[in-house]
Amino acid sequence: MAWLTPNGGWGESNTALISGQGCSLLVDTLWDLPRTTAMLTAFGPKLESAPIRRVVNTHADGDHWFGNEMVGADEIISTKSAARSMKQHGPGQMKYVDTVSMVFRAISRLPLPNRADWRVAAEYFEGMLRPFDFTNIKPALPTDTFSGRLRLDVGGREVMLIEVGPAHTSGDLIVHLPDARIVFAGDVLFHGTTPVLWDGSSRNWIKACERIIDLKPETVVPGHGAIADLEAVEAIRKYWQFLRTVVHRHWEKGRSASQAAAHIVRSDEFLRQPFAKWDGQERIVINVYAIYRRLMGRKRSVSVFRRLRLLREAALLAQDIVDD
Ligand SMILES: [Zn+2]
Repeated sequence: MAWLTPNGGWGESNTALISGQGCSLLVDTLWDLPRTTAMLTAFGPKLESAPIRRVVNTHADGDHWFGNEMVGADEIISTKSAARSMKQHGPGQMKYVDTVSMVFRAISRLPLPNRADWRVAAEYFEGMLRPFDFTNIKPALPTDTFSGRLRLDVGGREVMLIEVGPAHTSGDLIVHLPDARIVFAGDVLFHGTTPVLWDGSSRNWIKACERIIDLKPETVVPGHGAIADLEAVEAIRKYWQFLRTVVHRHWEKGRSASQAAAHIVRSDEFLRQPFAKWDGQERIVINVYAIYRRLMGRKRSVSVFRRLRLLREAALLAQDIVDD
C-alpha cells in the first residue's frame, strides 16, 4: 500500500506499507508530525493485524524521516551514510530556513533596487514551508544501519534493501519487494516533477536507475509523484544523461553554474525534451551546480548557506520562466 502526496513538489513525498503475516514494514515517514499521523491513521485497519515493526528511511532528507517518532517502531533502518547525514540535517535546521524566509521578506521591504527579487525569493520559501508544521519534532534516528545490501523477512515476505547512493543524496537506498515485483525507489525516482541533486552524483544516479531497470519491476513507487513504471525510471536516466552532456559544454566555455542553468532551460534542445514539461524546472539551478561541484572536485556536502543561496536562485529562475 502506498501513501502519495500530490503533486510531488517540495516536501510532498510518498511512503509505502509492506505487510506480511502479523507485521508490517513502513518505507519512509513524512516531513511533519500531522502529515505522518494522517498517513498512519489511513493505514490503521491494516495495522491492527500487522503492526509496523520496522521503518526504513530511503535517505536523509527530512521529508522522508522527520515523522519517524510517530510510528513507535522497534527498528529504524537506513544506510550508514544516510544515518550520518540525518544527524547533521535534523529538524532544527527548519527553524533556520524559516528565519531566512523572514529575513528575505524584511529585505524586500527596504528601498533597494532589487527588492522585487527578494520578494520573489521570500514568496518561494514561504510557499515551500507554509503547508508544513515543523514544531515539536524530536529526531528519531536509525537504530540499525548497513552498507551494500540487507535482506529482511517481513512476516514471511522477502524484502531487499539495496544501497544505491550517492545518487540523489549520499546514502540512498531502494526497497525491492520481489513477490509483488515492486521497487520503492525513494528519491531516485521523481515522477512528473524535476529531480533535485544536492550533494549526490548524477553519474551514480544514472547507475541507480539502471539497477532498478535490472530488477525488472512492474511497478515503481517514486519518492515524489504518482505511482510509475520503468518508463519513468528511463525518463529520469535520460534527464541526467542530457544534463551531464550539456553542462560539460557550458563548463568548457567558462560559464558560471547559474549562467549555464539559465541558458540550458531556455535552449531549444532542452525544450524539445519530454522532461521540459515536468514541474519544478527551476531546480535545474541546483542540479547544474551539483554537476559543476563534481567537475571542480569538491566532495564535501553542500553547506546550509549554499543550499539557501541555490534555492534563492531557483526562485528567481522560476519567476523568469513564468515571465518568458
Ligand atoms: Zn524527497
